[in-house]
Amino acid sequence: ASPARSIGTSPLLVSRLFQPSSLREGLELGMEGRAGEMPCKSQRLMLQAGLIHPSNPGCYYYLPATVRAMEKLVRLIDQEMQGIGGQKLDMPSLCAAELWRRSGRWDLMGKELFRLRDRHGAEYCLGPTHEEAITELLASQGTLSYRQLPLLLYQVTRKFRDEPKPRFGLLRGREFYMKDMYSFDTSEEAARLTYQAVCQAYISLFARLGLRCVQVQADTGNIGGKLSHEFQLPAEIGEDRLLICGNCAFSANVETIEPGRTDCPQCHKGTLAESKGIEVGHTFYLGTKYSHVFNASYYSAQNKPVLAEMGCFGLGVTRILAAAIEVFSTEDAVRWPGLLAPYQVCVLPPKRGSRTEELAGLAEELCHSLGKSLPRLKGEVVLDDRTQLTIGKRFKDASRLGYPYVIVVGQSAAEELPRFEVCCQQSGETLFLSRDGLMDLL
Ligand code: ATP
Ligand code: MG
Ligand code: MG
Ligand code: MG
Repeated sequence: ASPARSIGTSPLLVSRLFQPSSLREGLELGMEGRAGEMPCKSQRLMLQAGLIHPSNPGCYYYLPATVRAMEKLVRLIDQEMQGIGGQKLDMPSLCAAELWRRSGRWDLMGKELFRLRDRHGAEYCLGPTHEEAITELLASQGTLSYRQLPLLLYQVTRKFRDEPKPRFGLLRGREFYMKDMYSFDTSEEAARLTYQAVCQAYISLFARLGLRCVQVQADTGNIGGKLSHEFQLPAEIGEDRLLICGNCAFSANVETIEPGRTDCPQCHKGTLAESKGIEVGHTFYLGTKYSHVFNASYYSAQNKPVLAEMGCFGLGVTRILAAAIEVFSTEDAVRWPGLLAPYQVCVLPPKRGSRTEELAGLAEELCHSLGKSLPRLKGEVVLDDRTQLTIGKRFKDASRLGYPYVIVVGQSAAEELPRFEVCCQQSGETLFLSRDGLMDLL
């Protein structure tokens, strides 16, 4: 007989999921070293759990579970950005050197820029950010009308930066995903309102993810501009140092204030405490720095051409994924923000040859009915069909991968009033629920 083919059928079977671990005992991956030498928890866990696989320094294969989580994150980002009027586009990664020369950043960016030439000798860089490109796009439309503003355009694309020290897995790659939004307004006042709206959307996004980010005053770096904040997720592995006042709302990246300062420059009462953070987002009010270079302008109500006031707003998409794993996980088990977990539910049927073996069909049927009766779980339920392994061993694996709900179809499901054992990974609770109780919970 030919082996059962389960291509395209549900439920999804764990035995068929492509999640190869890159950190098994005895498997050594040159550049990544051994698990014991890896100080970064999210990097170690993501390699262990088959979420990423190293390719070359700062570059990774994003394996299927990671892509699922990332797609969920991008959907949330889309909701937030479109909620404030953002329109999504997609710009080329190959950026002409000529644009970057005009803004002066071809030289300013130094070695961080990946530079290349085409067959005709024309120079390009692989886009590390897109202020030049978007401003040139706007300018190419001729002068806009003030009625078309504010205009908020964003993309979620790969960015390329030749980082001097790519490390910590997806936290600092040389190729990574960023959401970058660019805003065009009629006045400084209007641009500041847009700036506030984007910050609010970021705050809302992080709240939905359960990430306690702090918004700190930041340096404008080589992007330039007048006003800037970073969204920092407090974590020991973070490469940024933050100063937070114990008395008022003041908080800043150390890069912006006098070094060694311990008294608060805002309230002059509190002392500044230092902590470490991962920069997950960055907002800039740019003024006319780029619109001036490329002549991106609009006609005012008085029909006069005026330079657009710009802002730019970044979110580190792949960095947010890793940072969330960093702060939610234990030393040996991945934990996700509920909304990002690659799959929501894992169902464990009994071991082959065990006393409750006949419950295998019930487990499979449960998977089907969960997906059918709860639209939110469609495609989100996996069945751990590796029934040659004990429930205990598979439960341990499921816990390590961080499914929010693990359902054991075991002894208690065989009783007169069938009960399913449900482990809620987020709260650590174990419940024994009837089928209806289970539906209510999920
Ligand atoms: P960092 O200070 O960590 O180098 P940055 O200030 O250079 O970051 P921005 O230019 O502000 O980064 O880019 C916007 C966002 O893109 C950052 O807030 C961060 O979340 C993300 N990001 C930047 N560099 C990387 C990287 N090498 N790998 C992953 N994400 C990154
Ligand atoms: Mg940087
Ligand atoms: Mg920074
Ligand atoms: Mg930054």
